[in-house]
Amino acid sequence: MRIYRVSCQAFPGLVAHAYLLLGAGPPTLVDTGSGYGDSTQQLLAGLERVRAEFGESVGPRDLRRILITHGHIDHFGGLVQMQGPVTAEVGIHSLDRWVLTTYEERVIVATKALRFFFHRAGVGADAQRGLLELYGFSKRHVKSVPVDFMLSDGQELDGIRFINTPGHCPGQVCIQIGDVLLSADHVLPRTTPHQSPESITASTGLGHYLQALKHIGTVPGVRLALGGHEEPITNFYDRVEEIRVDHERKLQRILDRFRASGPATMQEMTERMYPTVTGWNVLLALEEVGAHVEYLYEHGALRVENLEQVEREENPPLRFRVSA
Ligand SMILES: [Zn+2]
Ligand SMILES: [Zn+2]
Repeated sequence: MRIYRVSCQAFPGLVAHAYLLLGAGPPTLVDTGSGYGDSTQQLLAGLERVRAEFGESVGPRDLRRILITHGHIDHFGGLVQMQGPVTAEVGIHSLDRWVLTTYEERVIVATKALRFFFHRAGVGADAQRGLLELYGFSKRHVKSVPVDFMLSDGQELDGIRFINTPGHCPGQVCIQIGDVLLSADHVLPRTTPHQSPESITASTGLGHYLQALKHIGTVPGVRLALGGHEEPITNFYDRVEEIRVDHERKLQRILDRFRASGPATMQEMTERMYPTVTGWNVLLALEEVGAHVEYLYEHGALRVENLEQVEREENPPLRFRVSA
């Protein structure tokens, strides 16, 4: 089997990788970039280069299978454009399937869930408008696409194996190919993969993520991991442990902040933790802190302070404090 990495500028400041698998069943592409700007052209040009520079007989038109590691736009957004020059069967995990097949519905429902979360997190009306606009921006160029088959945990297909790793995204799969693991956005070499609250989307959240991180760390014999972003990972098991420790530290930092500065909403805690972030990063920071605060609450380390208000009002901000 041969694995080639082809990359594209998924969004300004974000490079995403796709992987061409040859010798594992029909010619297969893992992920398709974002579809934003000329990212699809970049991927198709990359596939052409594989043919020209490495003497492979396979070009973009020969692809017969596309596997989507998870339902985030930087991994599947290019699918519609790709399906023009390419005729391939598409596979994704069942938990992320509806993001592809009923995309327009998904955006409306997810936006509603996000709005509900903003209220509960204590985000002011003006800030909510700004964040929802940013959230909608990256989603406009994408349309629904049909899915042909499902990937499931432990499933084998032409010598490759899928491992469901929920958390960063509900239906995320890592793909094991001999001693190589395509680790998607579950394990990245530099960035600790982004977490968001399970109250927005089921099967995300830090609890699922940490469990899936533990699970992937037990897969034996990973010599090389290739993520959806950044460079190859040659110290996979150390990196898994580093990410775990990073979350432990973040949980501790949040608890320390609660102790030092008193009760807070998720929004206030985000301002305490990340006072200088702007733009898109405000949303990422709020989701990240939200995921950690929810985890602490689920595990009894935090309590809700404004219970009377919560009982009385429709969807008020929750104000958390440290458990006695
Ligand atoms: Zn992702
Ligand atoms: Zn990604």
